[in-house]
Parts: sequence; structure tokens; C-alpha cells
Amino acid sequence: MKICAICKRESRGFGFIPPPLRASNPNNRKRHKHFCSMNCQEIFSKIYKEKNMIDLTKNEKEAIESALKPVGEYVAEIGMDRPLSSYSREEVLCLIEVALGAYFDFMQGKESESEMSEVPC
Ligand SMILES: [Zn+2]
Repeated sequence: MKICAICKRESRGFGFIPPPLRASNPNNRKRHKHFCSMNCQEIFSKIYKEKNMIDLTKNEKEAIESALKPVGEYVAEIGMDRPLSSYSREEVLCLIEVALGAYFDFMQGKESESEMSEVPC
């Protein structure tokens, strides 16, 4: 009999496996938690997320902020008034590339280009 990890009643088929583990791997059974109800499962899940939240470092926050200008310039270039839902797949991918490029340039200590010379995609 399996016991609920929250209230210690008998479990009834609800479970939790910490990511990125897979239920199919027998080595992960020890870390698999069982619950009596969705309520207890949600309580555990909330506690798990709070305990495993990783705070951004000062550099990571600054790197994210460094992406504001290039992302803003890209959005202005393709049409500031357009909703994100109207972007093509290529435009969304390019937006992501602009943001990640600025982030990683900052993290690698590269000078951010004051003016966006060219869109990378
Ligand atoms: Zn329970």
C-alpha cells in the first residue's frame, strides 16, 4: 500500500515525479511521490515549485534588460501595432533569436551594439 506524501492516507493513483525524470525508468521509483487526491498532489506540487525556484543573479537580470532595446527595435521594424498572435512563425523565431542574442552577448561580456545594425534572421 502506498501512502499519500501529504496527509498520510492511503494513496489513490495520484503521483508526482520530479522533472526531468520519467515514470518509465525504474530507477526513479524512489523519488516518485503518491497522493490520495488531486488536492494533496497540488499542495505538494506548489511546495516543490517554491522550493526549486531559482532566483536570477544580478548579471542575468541585467542581461535580460539588455535585450529590451534590440527586441523593441525588432518589434518596431516589423510593425509596432501588430498583436503577437499575427506574427508569422519566422517572425516569432527571429524575435526569440534577437532576445537570446542580446542576452548571451551581455553574459559573454560583449558590448551591445548601440544601434541594431542588422536583424540576425
Ligand atoms: Zn492526501
